[in-house]
Amino acid sequence: MEETLTFQDMNLDPRILRAVEEMGFEQPSPIQAKAIPVVMEGVDIIGQAQTGTGKTAAFGIPVLHKIDPKDRHTQAIILCPTRELAIQVADEMRKLCKFMHGIKILPIYGGQEISKQIRSLKGGIQLIIGTPGRVMDHMRRHTLKLEHTKMIVLDEADEMLDMGFREDIETILKEMPEERQTILFSATMPKAIEEIARTYQKDTQIVKVIKKELTVPKIEQYYYEVKPKRKSEVLSRLLDIYDPKLSLVFCNTKRGVDELVEDLKGRGYFAEGLHGDMKQVQRDRVMKHFRDGKTDILVATDVAARGIDVDDVEAVFNYDVPQDDEFYVHRIGRTGRAGREGRAFTFVVGREVYKLRDIQRYCKTKIKLQPIPSIKDVKNTRIEKVLQETRAIIESEEDLSEMINYIEDMVNDEEYTSLDVAAAFLKMAITNEEDSFEDFDLEPHYYGNDRGEKGGRGRRNRKRSLEDLSDTGAEEGMVRLFINSGKKNGTRPGDIVGAIAGETGIPGKLIGSIDMFERFTFVEVPEEYAKDVIKAMSKTKIKGRTVVIEPASQRQNG
Ligand code: ADP
Ligand code: MG
Repeated sequence: MEETLTFQDMNLDPRILRAVEEMGFEQPSPIQAKAIPVVMEGVDIIGQAQTGTGKTAAFGIPVLHKIDPKDRHTQAIILCPTRELAIQVADEMRKLCKFMHGIKILPIYGGQEISKQIRSLKGGIQLIIGTPGRVMDHMRRHTLKLEHTKMIVLDEADEMLDMGFREDIETILKEMPEERQTILFSATMPKAIEEIARTYQKDTQIVKVIKKELTVPKIEQYYYEVKPKRKSEVLSRLLDIYDPKLSLVFCNTKRGVDELVEDLKGRGYFAEGLHGDMKQVQRDRVMKHFRDGKTDILVATDVAARGIDVDDVEAVFNYDVPQDDEFYVHRIGRTGRAGREGRAFTFVVGREVYKLRDIQRYCKTKIKLQPIPSIKDVKNTRIEKVLQETRAIIESEEDLSEMINYIEDMVNDEEYTSLDVAAAFLKMAITNEEDSFEDFDLEPHYYGNDRGEKGGRGRRNRKRSLEDLSDTGAEEGMVRLFINSGKKNGTRPGDIVGAIAGETGIPGKLIGSIDMFERFTFVEVPEEYAKDVIKAMSKTKIKGRTVVIEPASQRQNG
């Protein structure tokens, strides 16, 4: 990946820079890096890059630069092929000008009440985003006047032509002032586009993101068609099923990274984020945790992941479809190193499937569609894992006679068959998990953290209500609390006592028994302090990590 310039290098209006920052864009996509400076100059341009590469902001940022908020005339018009795209572009433009005051944007498209649009247009709209048919309609009615319009964008030009809008587009272009900037963006470059450019543009500059031949490592690649809201649930299912030693998850924005890390932590995974807003020391710490296996899921942006060189990454997840083919290759190249197992999973939302098709074509690789694993699949995997462990114990020829005696007694005294007993044990071994199986359409849910001692990554528990302090399996008068911090990240009982006493002021000697495991700890506190402890501790860090603390459930207690 070559070094591209940053948004800071582009001389952008600070208010736009701030919006870009808030949208979580870490660096300009390749087409943005190339096209923004050209559009900014005010010349006519054809910009060509695949779907999903950020073309909207590539023309959107300079267009916003050139709009004068004090002038109420329509200064720019963006033509889009469909109503959905017009709405999408309008949303993106609104986000980009969030901090610029006085710029009015209106999407106009067929199917929406025209009288309503006319009323809005009367208020003075500087930026119109519309489908060609409806724009023409307003021009004929003189409810939209283009005599002061300085810029026109033909967005997704190839698609507009495919949809038969050529005549409409030409009519609109003819009625525009001669003195204007004509901006054309497209994923492909059919002849008709060149013709339009020749007729309606002057001294066209062509900006393309050129494809390189890319070699993709030979690893299994899958994709899933997912709704955005379900992405994190699908990710957890895949993590549970494949149980990768280390996973690298890529998001396209810094914000996406932060949100996903929170979500995964809430579900009981050990995940940390890596992105450009973090200080070097923070990054180093996160990388160290990942290398040492203290964190087994690293969520990162493309920029932040540059130079990550860890051998045991068994799975790469493209939580967002990458902005560029090259990014895809770089991302998945992080797994399957040195002959190790490696898999790449890509989540695709709606139209992004076209982007994936392009990636496959340019990278000459096959990415297979897979159904989203069902709850049953997850459960079966867990059963299989328990059975595997069972086999291992039997085959290790460890002396099981003491255990056998217990079972024998049970079978003899209570008239169960040994199959009944085995089945009950199997159920018990997976029950913790089974309860957390939920279907998609339920409300958002949270899991506590109990992944057990032995790779039981799937062992997630539903979090209890923080108010529910009954039945935590503690001594009389005490409440047993669960904390998702244990020996594995170097926590010692003293750290727990210190944190509780320090945060809540309860004397250390009132703190009851502490049971510490690899990844979590149980601690008992007097009932009357429990709520305060939970409240105070949820804002505290232990060993530099914010912790989940909650009343233990009997199940967690084993
Ligand atoms: P295209 O028009 O090329 O198909 P879009 O402009 O619709 O692509 O952008 C696709 C997605 O990428 C949008 O969600 C957009 O917000 C996001 N995006 C655009 N630029 C960047 C960037 N520099 N970094 C991260 N995400 C970006
Ligand atoms: Mg687009």
